[in-house]
Amino acid sequence: MNRELLRRLPKVDEILNDPEVADQIASMPHEQAVDVVRSVLDEKRRAILSGEETSEDFVSHDRVMRDVTEHIIFSCRKSLRPVVNGTGVILHTNLGRAELSKKAKQAVAEVADRYSTLEYDPEAGHRGSRHTHVEGIIRKITGAEACMVVNNNAAATMIVLAAIGAGKEMIVSRGELVEIGGAFRIPDIMEQSGATLREVGTTNKTRLKDYENAITENTGALMKVHTSNYRVIGFTEDVPVEDLADLGRKRGLPVIYDLGGGLMVDLTDRGIDEPTVEYGMKSGADVILFSGDKLLGGPQAGIIIGKKKYIDRMKKHPLARILRVDKMTLAGLEATFEQYYDPEEAKRSIPVLRMLTRSKEDLTRDAERMRAKILERVPDAEVAVERSMGMIGGGTTPGILLEGAAAVLSSRKRSAAYIEEQLRLGDLPIIVRVHENRIVIDMRTVSEPEQDMIAEKLAEILA
Ligand SMILES: *Cc1c(COP(=O)(O)O)cnc(C)c1O
Repeated sequence: MNRELLRRLPKVDEILNDPEVADQIASMPHEQAVDVVRSVLDEKRRAILSGEETSEDFVSHDRVMRDVTEHIIFSCRKSLRPVVNGTGVILHTNLGRAELSKKAKQAVAEVADRYSTLEYDPEAGHRGSRHTHVEGIIRKITGAEACMVVNNNAAATMIVLAAIGAGKEMIVSRGELVEIGGAFRIPDIMEQSGATLREVGTTNKTRLKDYENAITENTGALMKVHTSNYRVIGFTEDVPVEDLADLGRKRGLPVIYDLGGGLMVDLTDRGIDEPTVEYGMKSGADVILFSGDKLLGGPQAGIIIGKKKYIDRMKKHPLARILRVDKMTLAGLEATFEQYYDPEEAKRSIPVLRMLTRSKEDLTRDAERMRAKILERVPDAEVAVERSMGMIGGGTTPGILLEGAAAVLSSRKRSAAYIEEQLRLGDLPIIVRVHENRIVIDMRTVSEPEQDMIAEKLAEILA
């Protein structure tokens, strides 16, 4: 029987010449198509030989063609591809953090489309610098004397420490020795940069005197790190960056401020008390650094602003070449910063800010719309509109919950775990949470066209 089934398996060429398969593979390299067909046949042989499969249907023409077709679709999928974020977590690190604004996306696409002025000055007709494209706009918007952009804020920390602190002591509070995730820990970066960490204070309390007493002729700078992803509460004290800046000025030492998130607009009325870039600038710190793809809402980047004499040192440092950003990043960043000329407009057009500032009422209306769209296609589903507590995410604003709304679905036909799996296995994965055997679609991170995509996919799954 086994041998008979094996014998009946179609040959590779036979499959490749099947009109339907031929159609599907027309635009893919022949070797890739052969590979896919071979792997399907290998898998079938294995299942037959192990006795797992004994039915004739397993080797039937239709079944083999169906399996091959499925595998071709799968093998044509990009590994890095868009998803629908139904989690309500705005800066979802696993899902690519900040969604770019329309203008930023357009700028990225345009610069990717052909040659660009990356290191060319068309007015002068000779070589230009890649730093200039965003420097002007960032200086204008932030009021900084100078600016530099590197790969991410971790890279920014590294180059700032290497350029200012190598061979010297950097004074940091014990309450601010942050781990951002993975291998990024302030003490480790410090070591890599060639600077020596001089810890002061305790986990919960650090006073200005602690910094003062630690200053020696070996001190390179005073550093303040925003505790982006945790809060120390209770019996605590830390030194405001303004006071540190005063001390730095008195003692002739630069003050570095790692701001983390890069929030550019004041959101205290929304209960978000993150320090803004403007606050950092006004504090008197000499060098300020922050991420491009956290609360700023742009592409992944590390932005360093501050005194020209320090920034110039970084630009000349060998790490500058290693940590430099690509043209697409610069294009996205330039377009993102341009939108901050009008902060109110930025709140509307930069997705991170727009999602952040959406009201509970607005989101409830969206959840109701989502519910109607699902019920229209799956009348026997159970869909409720419920309050949700969202997070900003991305290692920012710990403890801050954003009140919003979710469409919460369950079906008698299928378990929530099954539906969740099917939602994420499509060409366009839809990522949702499961809570108490129900599917939770948080509306804060879902656009209107995506509502329809979710409803369509649910109809397919629950058909
Ligand atoms: C997020 C963060 C970083 C790292 O930024 P990336 O852009 O993720 O590299 C560094 N410092 C602080 C305080 C942060 O919040």
